[in-house]
Amino acid sequence: MNVLVLNCGSSTLKFQLITTDLEQIADNTDRRLARGTIDRIGGEAIVLLEAAGRAPERTTAPLRDTRAAVELIIRWACAENSGIDTITSVADIHAVGHRVVHGGERFTHSVVISDEVLRGIEDCIELAPLHNPTNIKGIQAAREVFGGGLPQVAVFDTAFHQTLPEHAYLYALPYQLYRRHRVRRYGFHGTSHRYVAYRFRQLRNIPREQTNVITLHLGNGCSIAAIRAGDSVDTSMGLTPLEGLVMGTRSGDIDPAIVDFIAAKEGLTSREVETLLNKQSGLLGISGLTNDMRELLAEAHEHNDRRARLAIEVFCYRARKYIGAYMAVVNGTDAIVFTGGIGENSAEIRAKICAGLEWMGIEVDTDRNDRYQPGTDGLITKDDSRVAVYVIPTDEELLIARDTVRCVRGAPQRF
Ligand code: ADP
Repeated sequence: MNVLVLNCGSSTLKFQLITTDLEQIADNTDRRLARGTIDRIGGEAIVLLEAAGRAPERTTAPLRDTRAAVELIIRWACAENSGIDTITSVADIHAVGHRVVHGGERFTHSVVISDEVLRGIEDCIELAPLHNPTNIKGIQAAREVFGGGLPQVAVFDTAFHQTLPEHAYLYALPYQLYRRHRVRRYGFHGTSHRYVAYRFRQLRNIPREQTNVITLHLGNGCSIAAIRAGDSVDTSMGLTPLEGLVMGTRSGDIDPAIVDFIAAKEGLTSREVETLLNKQSGLLGISGLTNDMRELLAEAHEHNDRRARLAIEVFCYRARKYIGAYMAVVNGTDAIVFTGGIGENSAEIRAKICAGLEWMGIEVDTDRNDRYQPGTDGLITKDDSRVAVYVIPTDEELLIARDTVRCVRGAPQRF
């Protein structure tokens, strides 16, 4: 099946075209046909399109809305000179898979989108007021372009973490807040944590029930998950993606009393403080320079910038602290997996996070860590390290495409 994977943000649409089916999933022979990003939808959009094996094409186009963006993708993919031989008309797209941020407590798996599912996604808007509406726009745009007959599947960022036990997802707040408003830990990046945990057990050739692993997704957003017997049993993001690790612009964990304190001192509303915690904090907030880890590392090395160093230090310390906590959660782990832009690309950050954890059985092999090639699956600990540390590139789009196929074919998602 040719699956169009859509990840719809407020003014950005990311897509991939992937050929996959149950046999291809089983023997890992899925094929990525194309990928791209359309930015600044609503005005003169910036369009980046890349067919597999070809150089990326950059253009601009006036695009009114998400529907116009999806139409552009299809026109491009079907064109004779696109470089995608297997797609010549809209009928060659067999299903659409959507990334949906919040599935609340209702969606524990990916699902084929019906009117009822769409209403369920709408019900979760109160939990993700910025994200779910744009995801819904993507679904509606695809319905308009492809018609109601084409199967569309929703893959939720939260679904993988729906196996968290009650003691891990409940906040110690008055219980009626959970009952009335569903205030609890949901967790995000579920597709990424699930994918790398799956790759890990493929690499080690172990069954799902024996997969005990701690996964760190370190990108612009960062989260960590404790996975026991293949299930997520704890994760650092909460009701929203703000909790947990230090991120590019998000604070991660703070004392909740700080919100009111800052509001009073700085004359801000609670909404403005929330924006400050989401957009002006984290690496950017501490360094005062950038949310980009690569630039921070360069500043630290080239100019010995004190606050760049500090931001890196706080980032790594928080991650290390969570690894310790999740070791306790999983009851000892076989492995730790790094993924995401920072996790995959920075040997220095991986080494800093793991430094001092030798007593826990984590012995990083400096040479392996330094020589790890991004884009590959790599072991970065010594052979006799009790806990293995891997770097595994995440591939959320591939998992979305595979789940789309599984849903359409009625195959189980627990594999
Ligand atoms: P997103 O969460 O938006 O998908 P990514 O997973 O692409 O983001 O991660 C982006 C982060 O990865 C940025 O902070 C970027 O600086 C960092 N990054 C990418 N390459 C490197 C590198 N070589 N060294 C350090 N950090 C890197």
